[in-house]
Amino acid sequence: MGYYLILDIGGTKTTGALFSEEGRPVKDLFIVAPSKTYEGCDAVFDNTVSVGREVLEKTGVEAAGLKGIGAAAPGPLDYNTGVIINVPLMGWKDFPLGPKLEKEFGVPVRLDNDGNLGALAEQRLGVAEGASSVVYMTVSTGCGGGIVINGEVYRGFTGSAGELGHMSIDINGIPCNCGANGCLELYASGTAMNRRMLRDMKNGVKSLAFEEIAYDPERISGKILGNAAEAGDEYALAFLQEEGRYLGAGLANYFNLFDPEVFVLGGGITHLKKWFYGEMMRTIERCAVSAVSPDRVRFSELNDKVVVYGAYCLISEYTDTVRL
Ligand SMILES: [Zn+2]
Repeated sequence: MGYYLILDIGGTKTTGALFSEEGRPVKDLFIVAPSKTYEGCDAVFDNTVSVGREVLEKTGVEAAGLKGIGAAAPGPLDYNTGVIINVPLMGWKDFPLGPKLEKEFGVPVRLDNDGNLGALAEQRLGVAEGASSVVYMTVSTGCGGGIVINGEVYRGFTGSAGELGHMSIDINGIPCNCGANGCLELYASGTAMNRRMLRDMKNGVKSLAFEEIAYDPERISGKILGNAAEAGDEYALAFLQEEGRYLGAGLANYFNLFDPEVFVLGGGITHLKKWFYGEMMRTIERCAVSAVSPDRVRFSELNDKVVVYGAYCLISEYTDTVRL
């Protein structure tokens, strides 16, 4: 019997769990700690290690019982060497995260970014289980994603494939940090929705959504839209239809490019699907070159655990393949 230590290192928090060989989180235990970003490269690394140690301690498993470590880390990273190329908020520049974790715990380590791991998890054991090709996109603060083709994560020539949020849907649109204009995530992400709500509130738009937060700009969130839409608020309903059009435009592009068997949408946005789904599907129908049957567009059920499950798939398949 062996175990896999799973670490999901995010910009704000780090999650650790121990998975059995059957792919179950031991004791259903998930340790969540702040990532100590902005405290320097060693502080973030030491914090990651201590989350891992805490997982072992609380599950009563010795490091000797580990078969490997699967980790999700921010990119850009070199999937083959486990080196983080440049993540300023963690102080990681050419930082050999994989090799350092290997040295610390004495077991093989594989790491990848959360978009690729999300796609892997959905294709291996999520709502797209067994599909030959899958495109996965998570819509939360931004829009991240990953692509699985013929059962393998598609990383591209330089390892940077799957930047779904930076597909431009308007070359004259809003300027993006990436250098382009009109990237999908500037319209469809949670951040973009909040920005539009703030603009509308400042322009004097009246809505139950804004009444709920007493027109306090600090309290704008996707949740108020859902509540208002549920109550039949016209502004919220129209807003979420517009969201459906943005998402649909993006998805139509991905269907035209990859023709995936299944597209999986995840992230916080899925809570609002009831109100944007129809318009999203109509937009796909209008914009995709080939017909897309509704069962090919699915919503993630792994949700906030998708990356952790993906990291489990990554390391367990690796150790099985190399037969350690
Ligand atoms: Zn961009």
